[in-house]
Amino acid sequence: MTIESQLRDRVAASVDQGFAAQIAFTQDMIRFASVRGAEHAVQDFVFRALRERNYAMDRFEMDRGAIERHPGGAVFSEDHSAAPIVVGIHRPRNETGRSLILQAHVDVVPPGPAGMWSHPPFDPVIEGDWLYGRGGADMKAGHAANIFAIDALRRIGLQPAATVYVQSVVEEESTGNGALMTHLRGYKADAALIPEPEDEMLVRANVGVLWFEVEVRGLPVHVREMGAGANAIDAAYRIMGELRRLEAEWNERKAGRAHFETEAHPINLNIGKIEGGDWASSVPAWCKLSCRIAIYPGVSAKEASREIADRIAAFARSDNFLANNPPSVEFNGFFAEGYVLEPGSDAEAVLARAHQDATGQPLKSFMTAGYLDARVYALYDKIPTLCYGPYSQNIHGFDERVSIASLKRITTAMALFVAEWCGTEPSET
Ligand code: ZN
Repeated sequence: MTIESQLRDRVAASVDQGFAAQIAFTQDMIRFASVRGAEHAVQDFVFRALRERNYAMDRFEMDRGAIERHPGGAVFSEDHSAAPIVVGIHRPRNETGRSLILQAHVDVVPPGPAGMWSHPPFDPVIEGDWLYGRGGADMKAGHAANIFAIDALRRIGLQPAATVYVQSVVEEESTGNGALMTHLRGYKADAALIPEPEDEMLVRANVGVLWFEVEVRGLPVHVREMGAGANAIDAAYRIMGELRRLEAEWNERKAGRAHFETEAHPINLNIGKIEGGDWASSVPAWCKLSCRIAIYPGVSAKEASREIADRIAAFARSDNFLANNPPSVEFNGFFAEGYVLEPGSDAEAVLARAHQDATGQPLKSFMTAGYLDARVYALYDKIPTLCYGPYSQNIHGFDERVSIASLKRITTAMALFVAEWCGTEPSET
């Protein structure tokens, strides 16, 4: 038996030994209904868990000025979370290996109507191989795996021989400002690993994401004089039509773009929320659309936002009502650019070996069409950033669930990755 295969078997056995506690920890995390702005308690829970394990602790607020000045920072809307960022720092006795950021977010998207769920959304029920719960897959399971992968090494008398930052952030589902704040705080490492639920694959390319709000205002009148009044909801529908045309054009621009041209529809515009009007018998005076659109890696957020604003302004000039009542466009969330993980990094090679050892399968990579915090480390730290995590179903939907067997394989792969990337030394405890 080679030294490598001995280590693999010991690590796998150790992950297995700690796995019941890991699942219980994940369930504890799911019980916190940590939607945007309500992540304080779960961040305190994470802080305690890391401090108990003797990490050096750092807990800090967002620096609004620094974030808003950064080209990848999103403006602070009134819904912005004020919860702190938590970082646990492992420092080895001898810094001989390569340093690592293990990152995860604790914020979760709203569960929607509880009646659409088979179990209450924040009740971490296990059925067969599935662990249910809002935010369980995205990404409290990965969050716990960051902590328990290191625990698994400690259990067999090893610890990373390089600095490891275990980062617990907020605002991943709305701005990405939490990850950006860790960068602005000055944290940097030789690689980053973020165990988002990626179906045991590695993210090769990821779109950027913009959030924006379009508001139409018109003159309210009684419906019997409707010809004289402008209906803001009707006008907003016409703008939606124009935005769909823009979306179609952006999808045509996939031609010639590696990782995107073979995708049927890489750029998705989501009109996620619509509000407007006050009364069934009054012509609506206002209507507001909350939108999210993707951009290709390499496209700047600033240029894309200008194109959207210009496009809506041009359309408004061609519309009888909107020409006199120009709609407002406000970028009120994600202002994030996409990234590509260039093949050939040593970090990827180490993960590929760890994945093969843990799962018996070669590591596949793919393109994802949703926002990832990985962009902060890839674009601004310019380090290999590995987004890789367990099988899941229905993230952001009803009955969100993560595969327990997959979580164990992923945790094993992560522990093996840390052992090879950082190297190991005898643990202190
Ligand atoms: Zn996520």
